[in-house]
Amino acid sequence: MRLENKVALISGGARGMGAVEARLFAQQGAKVVIGDILEDEGRRTEAEINESGGECVFIRLDVTSEESWQSAVGEAVNRFGKLDILVNNAGIYRTHNVVDTTAEEWDQVMDINAKGVFLGTKAAIPALRENGGGSIVNISSVAGLIGNFMSSAYTASKGAVRLFTKSTAIQYARDGIRANSVHPGTIETLMTAPILSDDAYRQDRIDRTPLGRLGTAEDVAYGVLFLASDEASFMTGSELVIDGGRTAE
Ligand code: NAP
Repeated sequence: MRLENKVALISGGARGMGAVEARLFAQQGAKVVIGDILEDEGRRTEAEINESGGECVFIRLDVTSEESWQSAVGEAVNRFGKLDILVNNAGIYRTHNVVDTTAEEWDQVMDINAKGVFLGTKAAIPALRENGGGSIVNISSVAGLIGNFMSSAYTASKGAVRLFTKSTAIQYARDGIRANSVHPGTIETLMTAPILSDDAYRQDRIDRTPLGRLGTAEDVAYGVLFLASDEASFMTGSELVIDGGRTAE
């Protein structure tokens, strides 16, 4: 039970990596609040976790809204008495080069992927402080470490998450709050399903990965679990790369 008695809030937890993290956290003893704009999927994930012996609550959360974040954090504290862990996981992916990226697309991606992380962190810090500390895990990407030939706003948003995490870590370390970023490579989820349905592209991604395969949501979830847990108690402001070796070259 690596998260015994911990309370965790996971954004974008209805499906994909967020849902896998929610299941793993619950198996490890955490009480989990999942927040997402996808209500049907969110309720399904909530029911699955509760039916398998975990403790989970779904709430509707739009990460671009400060009020929505305030009520999500409030719900976690009201329901479970405190907040120990925030996973800023919600995100969207868009693939356009610079010239083809519209100003609207840029704003939408930055709003969800970057501002969403800022608003979540801002809403959670008072509750984490009140708790005597906690762990914030921000899901960036390898796209937050290196340039990408087919996405522009997305890489900018994930780069923003990387350095915002370090500022959070420095500013709140003395409150016992740790903040670290996670940088997954290509992971098979519904987010990447459209691009990975192209066989040539899929094979290219595998060929560029030294470990010779794409990642799974579980590969990432175990890294997030580690950073969320007390096992990582001397880690803050760091970057956990989970990419099969892709950025090591
Ligand atoms: P996913 O299956 O699409 O899950 C992301 C979840 O976030 C979805 O349920 C999505 O709902 C939700 N979301 C979107 N906008 C939201 C908002 N405004 N408020 C609340 N929730 C919102 O994607 P995933 O692959 O699990 O990705 C999870 C995170 O990992 C993302 O931050 C992504 O950028 C990052 N990541 C993914 C990969 C990869 O290869 N899959 C690699 C590196 C990093 P909608 O479906 O309605 O948008």
